[in-house]
Amino acid sequence: MSVPKIVILGGGYGGLMTAKGLQKELNYNEAEVTLVNQNSYHYITTKLHEPAAGTAHHDHARLAISSVINTDKVRFVQDKVTAIKLEEKEIQLENHEPLQYDYLVIGLGSAPETFGIRGLLENAFFIRNINGVRMIREHMEYMFSRYQNEKKEELITIVVGGAGFTGIEYVGELVDRMPELCREYDIPLEKVRIINVEAAPTVLPGFDTELVDYAVKYLESKGVEFLISTPIEECMEDGVILKGGREIKAATVVWTGGVRGNKLVEDSGIETMRGRVKVDEFLHAPGHDDVFVLGDSALVINEEINRPYPPTAQISTQQGQLLGKNLVAKIRGGEMKSFKYMPKGTVASLGRKEAIGFVGTKKYYGAKAALLKKLIDLRWLYLLGGVSLVLRKGKL
Ligand code: FAD
Ligand code: NAD
Repeated sequence: MSVPKIVILGGGYGGLMTAKGLQKELNYNEAEVTLVNQNSYHYITTKLHEPAAGTAHHDHARLAISSVINTDKVRFVQDKVTAIKLEEKEIQLENHEPLQYDYLVIGLGSAPETFGIRGLLENAFFIRNINGVRMIREHMEYMFSRYQNEKKEELITIVVGGAGFTGIEYVGELVDRMPELCREYDIPLEKVRIINVEAAPTVLPGFDTELVDYAVKYLESKGVEFLISTPIEECMEDGVILKGGREIKAATVVWTGGVRGNKLVEDSGIETMRGRVKVDEFLHAPGHDDVFVLGDSALVINEEINRPYPPTAQISTQQGQLLGKNLVAKIRGGEMKSFKYMPKGTVASLGRKEAIGFVGTKKYYGAKAALLKKLIDLRWLYLLGGVSLVLRKGKL
């Protein structure tokens, strides 16, 4: 007798949590579960700003999928998804035969949102994956290495486009990295410029103003320049053009101006908003009872303010945890439970020793917040691989 085939696309926060749940709950031969991911590893996206600045090695932000998934229970296919064929219930892959599914889980994450800004895709760097952050670090170091010969200020000027959480966390890491980098290349620290450009009238728009003030004062005290209410309108090989025509010369431009859903999802014919699927309470894609979407690929409305929840690892993890259980219920003919997001708080690092955030209604700053951020990172390792993974990979 054939068993239901469950195919999970993406080994990120949502996909891995779903796979972990299924491998725990399913009985022998109750379903055939396949996880597809383009790399052999999961990247810990919430840490990518560290290797991007060079404050940590990129291996610190990735884990072999085979080390966290029981491959006797979940078949792992390392390949790139090239198309999702809903009518045929088929997934096309770059290097393997197509996969058939009875139930599909889409957790393919996001892509940079460039809003059609000229030159961004060609000239800016993005903090999105391991290869991307390796390139940022090496490019920045190479630019610094050229400075003594060429003495051009743009070589040691870094523009970060967007002062959302990714932008702020990256700028915080750069601040930590600069003293060492400048020593290495004999560059006076005060000559380096880190410019964070933000279109909205404030850094971290929508976040608690007291916490934002703390972050801005701290980063400014370390030499960061903020340009707010200043959209970037064009990116060139040697800098950016701001609204109004002002040009900033910079050899390194890193775009952290927002994300949209993975294009494969909109190409599948599922209706999307900026590439994200407005899912129902069970995380179904509209009109498809056999297709579930989660993480950055999904869009869930916060009914209190009638706006989507921001795409985060936190919501992706909670969705994966529920989906694992719901799929087991569905296969067994039981009832699925509705997804209810339980926000636990938000903490953003400002380098290794500083952070801002809140848990519940309590605000945290400085070293306490930095410790909280590290504990949140350790929790993810714990969810993936228990105490042994925390001891092996975790770092306070
Ligand atoms: P992802 O974790 O992005 O995983 C998607 C997976 O799909 C990846 O493994 C990718 O390789 C794979 N994939 C994509 N396309 C294909 C394809 N065609 N074929 C095969 N595989 C494919 N959120 C928080 O809650 N807290 C934080 O502190 C935080 N910090 C962040 C810091 C940074 C620098 C960034 C960039 C984001 C941060 N976020 C944070 C947001 C968070 O990382 C994302 O919301 C989260 O990763 C989304 O999880 P996901 O499972 O949807 O996708
Ligand atoms: P974001 O959308 O949160 O922020 C992007 C910022 O770029 C916005 O402030 C926007 O106004 C600005 N921007 C847009 N166009 C611009 C332009 N032309 N010029 C200058 N600025 C421009 O994106 P993000 O920071 O990449 O975050 C993505 C998601 O990941 C969010 O949901 C965020 O909450 C989450 N995240 C969370 C954490 C954390 O919890 N510590 C860290 C990083 C990311």
